[in-house]
Amino acid sequence: MLAELNQQIMEETYSAYIYHAMAADLEHKGYKGMATWMRVQAREEKIHADIFYNFILERGEKVELWAIEKPPSTWEGPMEVFEAAYAHEQHITGRINHMVKVARELNDNAAYNMLQWFVEEQVEEEANTSEAVQQIEIAGGNSHALLMLDREMGARVFAVPASAPYYTKPGQATDP
Ligand code: MG
Repeated sequence: MLAELNQQIMEETYSAYIYHAMAADLEHKGYKGMATWMRVQAREEKIHADIFYNFILERGEKVELWAIEKPPSTWEGPMEVFEAAYAHEQHITGRINHMVKVARELNDNAAYNMLQWFVEEQVEEEANTSEAVQQIEIAGGNSHALLMLDREMGARVFAVPASAPYYTKPGQATDP
């Protein structure tokens, strides 16, 4: 279980990393609103990583940080960005489901309970990214519609999820 949890710190940190890469590519290409959306997404991923980090420490176990792979730096356009984000979230859902299975097999109820928050979170993550793909598809090649969508997506603001388990607020001594 510990190896899985440590791997997940890497998986969530990589998520933050790839979404930051996507934000940079979008902003570079003039999609400032979508870039903002991705920056917010990246910050949420860092919280996800922190939850696993804090959970391991809370259990008196050893945190081990893995190497983070280099993410791609460019995508064809916004459609390809959000398709890649959706595919990535499906991968993360697979990871969470695998960890739930391991926790159940080991009768690790604490890990099992903590993971339930992520089970719900992944439903939202997949819905958010696939909805973005769908809306870009609807906008099609219409630059006016795409610009409106970009503005709308730029309204997303970062907020620490109130119900996040084992998360310490930024600025506190235990914040990694
Ligand atoms: Mg995540």
